[in-house]
Amino acid sequence: MADTIFSKIINKEIKADIVFESDKVLAFRDINPQAPVHIIIIPKEEISRINNFNSKKHSELLGEMIDAANKIAKDLKIDDGFRLVINNGEKAGQSVFHLHIHLLGGRQMHWPPG
Ligand code: AMP
Repeated sequence: MADTIFSKIINKEIKADIVFESDKVLAFRDINPQAPVHIIIIPKEEISRINNFNSKKHSELLGEMIDAANKIAKDLKIDDGFRLVINNGEKAGQSVFHLHIHLLGGRQMHWPPG
């Protein structure tokens, strides 16, 4: 597994404020939140970026990540409106190269994003 900060969170080598965990998926609060609710949802399997997504291998896993997003949004009472974001590559703002979905909510969102 590539040695990113998220693999250290998966391995419990560093602490995170975990809000959801299953066999395949982990979710925790972003350390630098951009909204009142800002959760990072990751697969425990290491996929560096969405470029490397393979529907034959990863569709079920991505489905579980979306299920987790819906569950967390409901638990944290933002299910009336939230945003899911995947940054792919440095040009898009990706800074941690372990695939993750940002779940943002708790405020009015604007479009287009920067
Ligand atoms: P991205 O820029 O799309 O790669 O998103 C990476 C996100 O991970 C950023 O929003 C960071 O604030 C967040 N992040 C980095 N390190 C940690 C950490 N140790 N715990 C929680 N979130 C983190």
